Amino acid sequence: MPTITKMLTPVNYTKSASNRAISYIVIHWVGSVSSAKNNAKYFQTKRSASAHYFVDDKDIYQIIEDHNIAWHCGTKGTYFHKYARNSNSIGIEMCLDKAGHISDKTIVNTAGLVQSLMKKYGVPASRVIRHYDVTHKSCPGCYISAASWNPVYKTLIDGAVENPTAEITSHKDATTVGLYGVVDVDSPDTLNVRADANAKASKVGSLNEGAIIYVSNSYNGWYYITQAGNMKGWVNANYVTLGDKKIINTKSGNLNMRSGRGTKYDILKTLPKGATVTQLRQYSDGWSKIIYDYVVGYVSTQYLK
Ligand SMILES: [Zn+2]
Repeated sequence: MPTITKMLTPVNYTKSASNRAISYIVIHWVGSVSSAKNNAKYFQTKRSASAHYFVDDKDIYQIIEDHNIAWHCGTKGTYFHKYARNSNSIGIEMCLDKAGHISDKTIVNTAGLVQSLMKKYGVPASRVIRHYDVTHKSCPGCYISAASWNPVYKTLIDGAVENPTAEITSHKDATTVGLYGVVDVDSPDTLNVRADANAKASKVGSLNEGAIIYVSNSYNGWYYITQAGNMKGWVNANYVTLGDKKIINTKSGNLNMRSGRGTKYDILKTLPKGATVTQLRQYSDGWSKIIYDYVVGYVSTQYLK
């Protein structure tokens, strides 16, 4: 994560006590192409809105102290979230690159910031939410569907890269695994990701309890993993629960992966016949919990072979 550059604004916030309770972290996008730095400058003069942080692929700018209240998720209309408000949250804006996208690097930088704030203020993963969740404003506009938001959300809460330039050692004689797994540590402990398959190798980053990782191979009791946020490296296999490899076996056509055990739940992804998935758990009601492309969801067990 880049060092946070403070460019505190004299306006666009409500002063608050230094011990303000911070219960939510609200994620936004800046709906147009601009850098974190330019946004920080823009909010130095009176605007009707603001946020605490602006993140792009190389910088993080903070314009309002955490304990003061930014104007990022308020509305004169209807709140769709019962509790999250400006007064109890921190607002983070993700910036768009020149192509108008939120780049992977911006997501990774935001993940580092989100996780440091989660730790600092004891905010649980369930309280890292979108502006959309608070007021139904289309923000971040590219992550309104569950299918688009879930993998980004997982990256934001799952783990943080600390040393993005670390050289990762590969072992030619490693055993192929090719399965997704879930990090199983006792929260708030985290699982270290290292540059080689031993505890003395340099640290690349860390993963939180429940993080979803792809395990490509195993070597000497260590797994070589890739995380949705593109963090790669070795982790101690004792702290990873692997699922079982299954193939989507529909008669023809695709299989819907849903957010819950039943056809009334949202479709998260559409899985093609023949796709490889990782089965985490099989329930007696005919449904299975699976991982596909870093997303956890549910499918009817009868279509897994
Ligand atoms: Zn927003």
